[in-house]
Amino acid sequence: MEHPENSEAYKGLVVNAGIEQPSSVNPYLKNRPKRKKRELSVAEFVEGIVKGNVTVLSQAVTLVESVKPEHQVVAQEVIEKCLPYSGNSVRVGISGVPGAGKSTSIDVFGLHVLEKYGGKLAVLAIDPSSERSKGSILGDKTRMEKLSVHPKSFIRPSPSAGSLGGVARKTRETIVLCEAAGFDKIFVETVGVGQSETAVHSMVDFFLLIQLAGTGDELQGIKRGIMEMADGIVINKADGDNLERAKLAATQFRNALHLFPAPESGWTPQVLTYSGFYNLGVKEVWEMVYRYIDFVKENGYFEYRRNEQSKYWMYESINEQLRDSFYHNPQIEAMLAEKERQVLQGNLTSFVAAKNLLDTYFAELKH
Ligand code: GDP
Repeated sequence: MEHPENSEAYKGLVVNAGIEQPSSVNPYLKNRPKRKKRELSVAEFVEGIVKGNVTVLSQAVTLVESVKPEHQVVAQEVIEKCLPYSGNSVRVGISGVPGAGKSTSIDVFGLHVLEKYGGKLAVLAIDPSSERSKGSILGDKTRMEKLSVHPKSFIRPSPSAGSLGGVARKTRETIVLCEAAGFDKIFVETVGVGQSETAVHSMVDFFLLIQLAGTGDELQGIKRGIMEMADGIVINKADGDNLERAKLAATQFRNALHLFPAPESGWTPQVLTYSGFYNLGVKEVWEMVYRYIDFVKENGYFEYRRNEQSKYWMYESINEQLRDSFYHNPQIEAMLAEKERQVLQGNLTSFVAAKNLLDTYFAELKH
């Protein structure tokens, strides 16, 4: 073989040609017939879900989240068939700004309720930022280390596609599927920054707001609307050096709550301190939640609120689908940018532009 080291100058060892190594890929793999995963029928989905099969449940949730129309058709049928099996649960919304300790707390809360009250727990999320960041922050399994490996828990990150309304609707539909699968405790997590609270509030029985002790002016930063929605406010990280400040914050929150009108439920929102990290005061937080549930079941508000929520979601669905149909109409899509430009340039008033667009849309519908 020709090789520089085989020249006379390097007498001694001989360099031989190498041998070809066999491929590490199984050569027959290509020829194997591809096994396409068979899609389940509606009946199979429902049967699997009602039996509590978590794999089937996950697949159904994926369909609910899918934007493909053919998936939506199946998803809607599955939801409808699951509806009679749903409703038997306690739904708790958990909100707090990033860093408030939601993941740490949900891990501890989840283990606590499963141990103390039994049953099964589903943790869902509504993350309005997930569309932008192209990935969900909330509900990520790795953030809830213990709960994610607990046999009685099901953790699902926030659906990521679409508007907040769309994301929230999917979470609401997922609640139905989870309940049909026997999950009798549902946590819905959201970032406490605004609109998403309203969406969560409209699908839970109890709205828990996680707060931190701040510098004394913390009340200013909190949107009044969010506090008004809360059935319970809990100050996290009440541990170590922070304990006194947390207690002080609790007093301030209690005082602030007095200024709000009495909630429809007849329940006086409570303020507690706890530490998710050190598992202090967690028992009391859940005693409060269950005390509330007993209270509103007794006075009829529980049923009332769930009915109101169903009504709300009917209108939300209508609004969302109308909006979708309008903005995805090819004629409208073609006109929209131009109309917007005319409005910005002052050549057309907003109202005339809107009327032109709507007239076009309605005329199109008639064809
Ligand atoms: P999230 O963004 O709301 O989900 O907050 P995380 O659960 O990720 O918590 C944010 C940070 O606060 C983490 O570094 C936690 O370790 C810390 N943390 C959470 N709960 C507590 C607590 O009860 N006490 C203390 N001291 N730190 C906590």
